[in-house]
Amino acid sequence: MAILETSIEKVPKISKKIVPQLKHLGIRTIRDLLFYFPFRYEDFPEPTPIGTIAADEVVTVHGKIKRISSFRTARKHVALTNAVIEDDTGAIKAVWFNQPFLTHNLKTGDKVSISGKIVRGPEGPCFQNPAYERLPPTTYPPKARLATGGKLQAKETIHTGRLVPMYPETEGISSRWLRFLIKSFLDQRQSISDPLPEETRARHTLPEVKDAIRAIHFPDTREEAEDAKRRFAFEKILFLQLRALHERARLKQHRAPAITLSVPLLKEFVGSLSFDLTDAQRRSIWEIVKDISKSRPMNRLLEGDVGSGKTVVAAAAALLTAKSGFHAAFMAPTEILAEQHFQTLKKILTPFRLKIGILTGSAKQSDDAHHIVVGTHAIIQKNVRFSNLGLVVVDEQHRFGVEQRARLATRRAETSHRDSSQIAVGSIPHFLSMTATPIPRTLALALYSDLDISLLDEMPKSRKEVITQIVAPGKRQETYECIRKEVRKGRQAFVVCPRIEIGDQKLEFGKMEQKRLMFAEVKAVTEEYKKMREVIFPDLKVAMLHGKMKSKEKEKIMGQFRGKKIDVLVSTSVIEVGVDIPNATIMMIEGAERFGLATLHQFRGRVGRGEEQSYCFLFPTEDGMVTRRLEAVVEAKTGFELAEKDLAIRGPGDIFGTNQSGYFGEDDIRYLADVKFIHEIRREVADIIKKSPDLNEFPELRKKLAEFERAVHLE
Ligand code: ADP
Ligand code: MG
Repeated sequence: MAILETSIEKVPKISKKIVPQLKHLGIRTIRDLLFYFPFRYEDFPEPTPIGTIAADEVVTVHGKIKRISSFRTARKHVALTNAVIEDDTGAIKAVWFNQPFLTHNLKTGDKVSISGKIVRGPEGPCFQNPAYERLPPTTYPPKARLATGGKLQAKETIHTGRLVPMYPETEGISSRWLRFLIKSFLDQRQSISDPLPEETRARHTLPEVKDAIRAIHFPDTREEAEDAKRRFAFEKILFLQLRALHERARLKQHRAPAITLSVPLLKEFVGSLSFDLTDAQRRSIWEIVKDISKSRPMNRLLEGDVGSGKTVVAAAAALLTAKSGFHAAFMAPTEILAEQHFQTLKKILTPFRLKIGILTGSAKQSDDAHHIVVGTHAIIQKNVRFSNLGLVVVDEQHRFGVEQRARLATRRAETSHRDSSQIAVGSIPHFLSMTATPIPRTLALALYSDLDISLLDEMPKSRKEVITQIVAPGKRQETYECIRKEVRKGRQAFVVCPRIEIGDQKLEFGKMEQKRLMFAEVKAVTEEYKKMREVIFPDLKVAMLHGKMKSKEKEKIMGQFRGKKIDVLVSTSVIEVGVDIPNATIMMIEGAERFGLATLHQFRGRVGRGEEQSYCFLFPTEDGMVTRRLEAVVEAKTGFELAEKDLAIRGPGDIFGTNQSGYFGEDDIRYLADVKFIHEIRREVADIIKKSPDLNEFPELRKKLAEFERAVHLE
């Protein structure tokens, strides 16, 4: 136990230099190291006699190094290492590029195992950059192994002659090194206790955690690795569902203010809108207002594609809340969106004379001044306490725990005089989350079983489909002309700059990298802006927007764009989510192939919001390829369709938006799409809870659930 929790700084094998990189990978302790799983395996065969090997094959040989030397090529660019390996049946050459240190590890006379592809060299077949390792003396010469049928046991090698684990790497940390490190602590797995009850494992033929850890790193067969992955996926999904059940049970213990369901008020609201609600909007509003009229806290997800009109639905709920004498909080992921929600709510709620406030910067605000307060997640959570909070609406954050709600609803000491007798003790506000992420049913079952879902599966009728085109390099001018024509008609355009890539985007960035990225992004936007303003559209009003600008400045630009003082807005992906400017009908995306499909769909969703025909132009980078993925964006009209296409092209990836938290690996996501598997786990969870509602009979499970609830903040 003690060793497992040892932090990597204290491990002599790990040099101080490498500690930050390991932390980048999320590895802080020996335990984390053992739970750092490979993403694929290199499949190297068992050893063959050198005399029998042929070119173009992937082989493993065991032999002795006859000679080895390193040198630099004439122009000193490449370090070359040459070696000859021999066994009783013959000899073969091996060449390594750029590994000058190799001669420190391998010496003439060493017994080695070499795995790799045999290529045809000028002097006959040879290994090129093969994997290698020294063999322990006991396993060589082969004669010593005759007793075991001449076979080397797979577990004796780790880099060659077996299924070799390949890990997600980062600068300075190779798979080879991780393999070595993990192997040297592998025995520590014996002290890991299994959170899954034995019956559960038996019922679903899941290997025990210790065995699964060994098998996922150093499997003897592919099946063994697969079983281990299945086990870990099972465990992860099981904990999500346990937590969801737990959350539901906890919510049941709380009360929430019952919001008066005033049908006349709702009718008045619907009648005051400048458009007719879609049936889906009506249905969702009804589901929500019915739910919040009860004294049990609502926990609901409003799911609808970009532009399906989620904001009015939430506004209806906020209106009823305010008119019942409670407050509503609206949270958005960015300041631009908070400002937009503020403007929208002010506009559509004008007839109802509500006081609506926006909170920016770090100003503290007491609840009493406004019926509805809008702000970013961060600002609201940090700075506002409501004495009478009835409803929390959150954009693009799927969960909001009991504690988070309770905290918002706590009155601050200085405002404690108000009579809050309307709220029962232990009362928490209702919660409504809005998302444009298309969540397939199985996934909703697996991930969101503590949430009720309202679905906007219908677009406002006035909408025209956005015309999406991939623009070939020769067609640029033509497209610019088309944009100019639209602007002359009074429309507006967005230009999104290519995503900047520095290092491995999958990794969490350190401060330095973030700065570099921000800097590069600002530079790219500034260049594109200049090009647009000076060369392409000198006759139009062009402005730019990027993350480095002050909020005030951003707001000003967005305000001008909304007020049609700007024709073309050049920006980074800051406009990705939620921006609503119905008069903008053109979305132009540079370097389109560098964005994820979900992001492209979000961009496209910025146009086609009014009644005019809108366009989305996808410009691939000059040397970028028109991929099937880009074609999928052209073909798919909705987020769901696109998610399906993406699924077909890549397998379940992060378009579902499930993996921003890093909780699931690629392998788990494959299981998340498996309906049968999800149902199997649901039944298991139900059985466990039935047997022991408080989990007292499963102490390991209970312990791990508590840790999990503390540690993981899934979206
Ligand atoms: P999203 O679901 O992406 O958040 P919004 O709530 O921002 O969508 O709505 C997109 C636009 O559609 C807004 O300008 C809104 O006023 C408008 N809208 C919403 N519902 C309807 C409707 N039923 N008919 C016409 N326009 C609508
Ligand atoms: Mg929105």
